[in-house]
This record gives sequence, C-alpha cells and structure tokens, in this order.
Amino acid sequence: MSIHILPLDVINQISAGEVVERPAHLVKELVENSLDAGSTEIHIEVLSGGRGIKISDNGSGIDKNDLVLALTRHATSKIQKTNDLWNLSTFGFRGEALASAAAVSKLNISSINLTSLNLSSQKNKNAWQIRSDFGIFSEILPSSRNQGTEIIIEDLFDNVPARLKFLKSDASENAQIRNVIKAMALSNYNVEFKMVESGQLDLYYPKREYQIDRVREVLNCQKLFTYSANRENYKSTAYFSSPQDVAKTSKNIWIFAQGRWVQDRGLQAAVMEAYRNLLMHGEYPNVFIYLECNPADIDVNIHPTKSQVKFQSPSLAFRAVQASVRDGLETAPWVPKNSNIESAVQKYSVLNYEIPEAKNYTFNDQSFVKTQFQNKDFSLQNNISVQNLSANESVNKSSNQQTYWSSFQIIGQMNLTYLVCQKDDQMILVDQHAAHERVAFEKLMRKWHGGMIDLQNYLFPLAIDMSPEKCEAVLFHKSDIQKMGIEIEQMGPSTLGIKSAPLFIKESSLPRVFEKLANDTIEFGGSFNLEKSISDIFATMACHSVIRAGQSISQAQMQELLISMDEFPLSSFCPHGRPVSIEMTFTEIEKMFGRIN
Ligand code: ADP
Ligand code: MG
Repeated sequence: MSIHILPLDVINQISAGEVVERPAHLVKELVENSLDAGSTEIHIEVLSGGRGIKISDNGSGIDKNDLVLALTRHATSKIQKTNDLWNLSTFGFRGEALASAAAVSKLNISSINLTSLNLSSQKNKNAWQIRSDFGIFSEILPSSRNQGTEIIIEDLFDNVPARLKFLKSDASENAQIRNVIKAMALSNYNVEFKMVESGQLDLYYPKREYQIDRVREVLNCQKLFTYSANRENYKSTAYFSSPQDVAKTSKNIWIFAQGRWVQDRGLQAAVMEAYRNLLMHGEYPNVFIYLECNPADIDVNIHPTKSQVKFQSPSLAFRAVQASVRDGLETAPWVPKNSNIESAVQKYSVLNYEIPEAKNYTFNDQSFVKTQFQNKDFSLQNNISVQNLSANESVNKSSNQQTYWSSFQIIGQMNLTYLVCQKDDQMILVDQHAAHERVAFEKLMRKWHGGMIDLQNYLFPLAIDMSPEKCEAVLFHKSDIQKMGIEIEQMGPSTLGIKSAPLFIKESSLPRVFEKLANDTIEFGGSFNLEKSISDIFATMACHSVIRAGQSISQAQMQELLISMDEFPLSSFCPHGRPVSIEMTFTEIEKMFGRIN
C-alpha cells in the first residue's frame, strides 16, 4: 500500500481511542471543561455504565459562534502558543475531548454564553445547541437553557464495536466514573458535585468552605490530620488518617499535582514509605496529597488523558510528599496531647534516661549472648548526609519532652501481657511486647543514623551460603552494607564471608538477614533502598530482642517502659504496625455496667 494521509473520520476515531478509552475518561474530560468554565455546580447523570452521560453546569457557557469549533479537533479557547503549555491555569488545553466524544457518540451541546462583551454577539444572548451524530454535525438551533452548558451523550461507542467489547460491566464502569467524580470533588472543594446513576442519587458533595471537610466526606474518614512540607519549589500538603484507621486497598490514597489528579507510582510509593513500620502487611492508609510547584516544573502534556505528569525533579516531589506525611505522622496527632496533670513518674528526666536494654531484663533471651566480640565505635563514612540529617531531625523531635505515656498511672500487669493503666477519664491497656518492640526499634534506628552501632568483629569470617545470583546482588551493595556495620567479602561463588556485624544481630540470624537483603536487592533492583531494608531488619531484630508477652515485669520496669515510650515519636504503633495500646473511657465502661445509658 502506498503512503497516504488518513481520512478525517479515521483520524478522529484513532484519537478518540486515546482520549476517551472508557466512559470514566470522558466524564473526567467533561467535568474538567465545566471547571475550566468556572462552574460552581456540576451535575452528572449516568446511564448504562456511562454509555449515556448528561452533564450540566453553571459555567461561562459557549458562544453560538464557537459551538462548531468546540467540537473540532485541536480547537481550544485555553492556550495559544507553545509556551502556554508551561504555564497552564486550566485542566484542558489539547482541544480534543469534545471532538473525540462527538466522533464516537450521539452528542448534543446546549449552552448560553452570558459573559461575552462582544456587541456583535449581543443578539446571540440566547441559548443555542448543536448535535453530532457520530461526527456528522447538525445546524445550530435555539435552545432553552438559561445558564451554563449541558452536554448529553448517548450511544457511546456504538460505531466502535471493538471498544464496546472492552467495556466492563455497568457496575464496574460506574465505579470508575464515581472515582473520577470523587477525585474532581477532592481538588475542587468549593464546587458542588452531584452524580445520579440510573435515576438514583449516588454522590452529593455540597460546596465547602474548607478543603478538609471535602476530604473527610470523600475519603469517608472523619478523623483526618493535616501537615505540609516543602522541598525547594515543591510544597506538599497531606491530609492523613492515623495508622489505626486503615483500608484494605490503596484506593484511598489520592494524589494531586497542581490540582490535577495523577496516577504516579513514585508519589504513591512516597506515601507508603512515610507509613513504613506503621502499617501491617495488606493495610493502606487514607491519604489525600496536594502537591504544588512552579507551573514550569511540571509537564502535564505527556499522556492523552493527562493522568500522568512529569516533574522537573521527581526526587524533590517524592521527598516533599514523603516529608508531609511522615513529619505529620511523627507528631502523632491522634495521641491526646499531654494534659497538665503532674505525674508521679515525671521525676525521671526523660532526656537523660537510658532506655532499658533487653538484656537488663532476665528474659532468658540469648540474643545478646556472644562468645567472642570486641566493641568498637563505628562511625559512618562519606555520602551519608541524608541519614545524618534525619538523625538530627529525630533527635530534635524527641527532645521535645513529652509525658504522655509516662503520665499513666500503672494499675498492674494483666495476663503477663498487658499493662493496665489509667489516665484522666480512661483505662488504657498497653501491650508490653509491642511497646518495648517500638522502643527497641527506634533506638536501633537512631543509633544507626548516628553511626553508633556497636560492632563485633569475628576472628574468622562467618561463612554464609547462598545462590551465586544472590551473592552477587549483595556484594554489589558492599559499601552500602558496610555503613550498616556489616563488613563482607566474597569467599567463593556462592559463599559470603562476614567479617563484622552489629552486636545486636544474633550470629544465628545473620543468614536470615542476608537472605532478606539479597531478596530485596533482586526484587527492587535500581530502586533498592537500603534504609528500608534495614528498617525491616531492625523491626524483626527489635521483635526478637524485647520483652515477650507472658513475662512478668516489675512495677519499676513498667514505669521505665512507659517513660522510654515518650522518647520516640510514633510510639503508639509497633514497627509491624500493630497498635501499642487501646483505650476505653470510663463512660464506656459505665455503660457496660448499666450505670448510665
Ligand atoms: P479543551 O478543554 O482542551 O480546550 P475540549 O474539546 O474539551 O478541549 O473543549 C473545547 C472547547 O469547548 C474548550 O476550549 C471550551 O472553550 C469549550 N467548552 C467545552 N466544554 C465547555 C463547558 N462546559 N463550558 C464552557 N465551555 C466549554
Ligand atoms: Mg477539555
């Protein structure tokens, strides 16, 4: 076949395939148009899984003379020149959505433009409509609208059977549409959204004065906290739930960049990273991220549906998002703030207090019993500025003397597992193992950050056997691993020799640690994050080295434990994400006893 330019209808169908792959994409484009037109009320009706869509708004409307252009490909009122692409103030700019929709459906636009000051169009100050039947336009006819624009789409994809085949069930397409409307509602809290599905009101979000109210209703999560962080030009504001308030999927992690809803795996990872060691496997947080930067630092023109963006500096974007969530979480806003009650245990100075080591207790745990070792001050070498920085950060944070945990009045130990405490108007049960695990974990992380891990040098390198592939993967990170205090050398194609390791790691658990490091490096490849792997290892170490459930501890040890809890942020969750304590108010207890109703 010789080369030829494709007929317009084929071109239109090809791009329609990109922009409106499924009904939810079309709904997103239509809602964005209404928002670009300054609407404050947007109502959407959906039929048959989105094969019928009606959207009406109270925006600025379309002039009679522009109706045909509105349906024409690459015709837009939003940008003029290439540079405008780097300074966008609208969602739309491609001039493709309506043309695409018109090519694959029966579409009717009726609109009234009340804002035009153009005298020649004064006489057009009536409502007008135009219809397209799969790309064939009608004449412009009068209509009866008195504000904004209404677009009705019917028989979507009837002329593209191949695309119809790919649509899922109505319920699943509706769910996608609902998601789009939730997203639009999240970033436009001062706009009213209503979605009706097959005649039934499905979503209704009235105009809100404050962002947080909209986030609460869309995430369906009443207890949300907010925190902001900057990394150079990137500013991220996070609304987040406590780690106790979790979802079973990642669906309630909503990320917006410059007001645009984006599907960005990197930023999603930044959120999960911030919750590291606070959630259990399979748990996801409820989070809304609003990331802002200079318009010139973000390219939104890399994907036809604009659902992906490219940042000038993805790592700054990542760090801003991660910091907004992590720093917010570290303030543990869900923990009731310290009341003024002077507590009996406050006589211990938290700052000078040495956290009890597991070996201080007589738990018959052999973790720390070693045959031959030699202590040495281990200091981290070179390129560790980031870690050092965060070490200072966490030290500063922890030096805000808190007395939440230490102000509990300890009543006793229950079932050799829980500390029974009271404070103010509630009873608090503290899981002794989870609490101690958190303290041991934070202590290890802090020591590691500060380069103060005690080492043991082995007289003869310990040999660990693993597959050659794993050996190679671990050796590749030899110098990083050394920063962790583990010195390794290759002893054979499938044998690693360990010359030194942190004192707190049991010799017998080293093979397990290396197995994990090797698996992580292989699984995560380029994005392998030593700190993450280490914190997982520390979490396991902490878990194995502390007080277990079923061990009797003295009143003084209980107090020591609570005091040390105050020294670390985030201390209300163990590193595996289980809560450290649960509370029950006296009112709740009295209700159970039938003293009050
Ligand atoms: P884009 O949004 O990229 O400009 P579209 O195909 O989505 O392209 O829309 C084409 C044009 O139609 C827009 O530039 C805008 O001028 C006009 N338009 C579309 N929908 C509306 C609406 N709801 N209210 C006012 N104008 C609209
Ligand atoms: Mg548009």
